[in-house]
Amino acid sequence: MRTQFTLSIGTNLGDRAANLRQAVRWLAANPAIQVERLSAIYETEPVGGVVQPAFYNLALVGTTILGASELLVYLHLIERSLHRRRLVHWGPRTIDLDILTFGDRHYDTATLTIPHPEMANRRFVLVPLATVVSGDQQAWVEQLLAKTSDHNWLKKTIESGEVNSWIKNESPTR
Ligand code: AMP
Repeated sequence: MRTQFTLSIGTNLGDRAANLRQAVRWLAANPAIQVERLSAIYETEPVGGVVQPAFYNLALVGTTILGASELLVYLHLIERSLHRRRLVHWGPRTIDLDILTFGDRHYDTATLTIPHPEMANRRFVLVPLATVVSGDQQAWVEQLLAKTSDHNWLKKTIESGEVNSWIKNESPTR
C-alpha cells in the first residue's frame, strides 16, 4: 500500500539550492519512494533567536511503501550524507528534513510526532505546503496559516517550475 506524505526541507549552510537538490535527488533515488510534487523555494528568516544565515525551504509531496518510521530512518541517512551538524539547537544546518503529514495518520512516539508539532508555528513550512496539497488538506493548511502567530519574513526565490524540473529525469523508472 502506498501512503502519501509531505515533507518540509530546509538548509542554511553552503550552497543552499544545491543542498535541497541533493536531498530531493536522494529521495527520488529510493525505489520505495516516489517524489510527486515540489513547491517553489522560499528564502526564509531563521526562527528561534539564534543569529544565523537565512534558510532556503521547500515543501514536497511524495508517496511511499515505507512506514513512517522507516521513512524517518531514510531521512536521517540523507541528513548524515549531507554532513548535517547538530551543534546548536535551532542553529545552522546543511539540511533538515521533517515529516509533516503521513496519510491521515497521527503518531506520538519518542522519535516521531505527526502531524509535525511545530508546523502551525512556522510560515516557512505552511506557505510552501499550501501550494502543493489539495482538497481537505489544503483547507487545513490554509486554516493553520490564517491562525499562525508567526510573522517572520519569507520570499519566493526559485520558481516551482524550475524546482520540479529536478525530478523529471531523476526518478528511476518504475
Ligand atoms: P530536528 O533537530 O528538528 O531535526 O529534530 C530531529 C528529531 O526530531 C529526529 O531525531 C526525530 O526523531 C524527531 N522527530 C519527531 N517528529 C518528527 C517528524 N515528524 N519529522 C522529523 N523528525 C521528527
